[in-house]
Amino acid sequence: MFLQRNLLKRSFESKERFGWLVCRRFSSVSAPKLPPFDYEPKPYKGLLGDEILQKRKKFLGPSLFYYYQKPLNIVEGKMQYLFDENGKRYLDAFAGIVTVSCGHCHPDVVNAVMEQTKLLQHTTTIYLHHAIAEFAEALASKMPGNLKVVYFVNSGTEANELAMLMARLYSGNLGMIALRNAYHGGSAGTIGLTALNTWKYAIPQGEIHHVVNPDPYRGVFGSDAARYAKDVQDHIDYGSPGKVAGFIAETIQGVGGAVELAPGYLKLVYDIVRKAGGVCIADEVQSGFGRTGSHYWGFETQGVIPDIVTMAKGIGNGLPLGAVVTTPEIAQVMAQKIQFNTFGGNPVCSSGGLAVLNVIDKEKRQMHCADVGSHLIERLRGLQQKHEIIGDVRGRGLMVGIELVTDRKEKTPAKAETAVLFEKLKDLGVLVGKGGLHGNVFRIKPPMCFTKDDADFLVDALDYAISGM
Ligand code: PMP
Repeated sequence: MFLQRNLLKRSFESKERFGWLVCRRFSSVSAPKLPPFDYEPKPYKGLLGDEILQKRKKFLGPSLFYYYQKPLNIVEGKMQYLFDENGKRYLDAFAGIVTVSCGHCHPDVVNAVMEQTKLLQHTTTIYLHHAIAEFAEALASKMPGNLKVVYFVNSGTEANELAMLMARLYSGNLGMIALRNAYHGGSAGTIGLTALNTWKYAIPQGEIHHVVNPDPYRGVFGSDAARYAKDVQDHIDYGSPGKVAGFIAETIQGVGGAVELAPGYLKLVYDIVRKAGGVCIADEVQSGFGRTGSHYWGFETQGVIPDIVTMAKGIGNGLPLGAVVTTPEIAQVMAQKIQFNTFGGNPVCSSGGLAVLNVIDKEKRQMHCADVGSHLIERLRGLQQKHEIIGDVRGRGLMVGIELVTDRKEKTPAKAETAVLFEKLKDLGVLVGKGGLHGNVFRIKPPMCFTKDDADFLVDALDYAISGM
């Protein structure tokens, strides 16, 4: 196995060198180098990527997909960096899909989880435990208005399922309004809220209205929030009994390709929806916990207070953890039956989650996201001046999208080019995400400890990769 690994490593290295030579023929600048990082990964002795892939194909569902022609076998992570089976270091600009908020294996989170695991892993909520109570109190203290009651679940999908259930029970109505290009989960219920055909199986989608997406770049009304809001009113007036259960939106669409909603949109729509008897749900699964820089929660960038907020991913820095926060009044409707979740708020996840909240505050991550994010966006906008293929640079804080097009006027998605650049970035040592219906948006959503040097490296690598096309 040792020999095999060395051979693999050599072939990988020669391929990498060859790839760089090809780039060099087109560009006079040399390939940018990863910022220095004082950390030595442990020697890896486990299964190699090829073997894992074979097992995945044999024992895991065929719907699983992976990034890169030759998928990466990532075996270790430290803060904003990842290491593959050969010890090669990568800058992680996608954070396990916007999930590792504090940093890979952040010592405070690891410690909290380990200490709790040694004492007690699980009892569920039939007995008392301090961790769930302390975590709920800390989370509620981060919420505005009367958002004070917390439900813990294990994922974003579960959080949105519960939120939709609450909306229907509280309002006594069925219809939900969601945005086109949204992603809210993949369960039988939330699949109806999700509005990207690539993720939707052909099952009953439920009573869902997908309204025109207030997308300033591609949307039919540009940044005109009032015209998009009118479409919501039209759906209520023409496509529903005149009453709805609720409205759900991400403030910055994640899977849809880091799309920010037209300014002022949520304020107008929340008014319309509440007048129609519905509640307003903010899906903060990706945009919460300071990532947008200017605010702790994405919805605050639009000056609204939702009735229900759902969260997951970054709340646990990698732990399976989600939450729904609502008002006491809405929570009351859930008390007519038993609402139960075996693992929700278990001692280990609650201890880890509390550590995450503390790290974000202690390390001033929200401010850091604002600072590094604006530097990154400014540099990317500079790159946009240089390369025609960059149609749009958007986002806030460390939630950034780069949309690639073959024709700036037509906004034709540069699907094939994005795929090529995606591989090149990986070879250069940068892992980004891909999003949008056409897969032509790079998503930059790194762990929040990502630095300005990391941002510069990412931009230089993208410049180098595009210049070599
Ligand atoms: N909401 C949003 C905004 C998401 O991005 C996701 C996951 N990509 C979900 C909900 C579902 O979360 P999970 O995969 O944890 O079920």
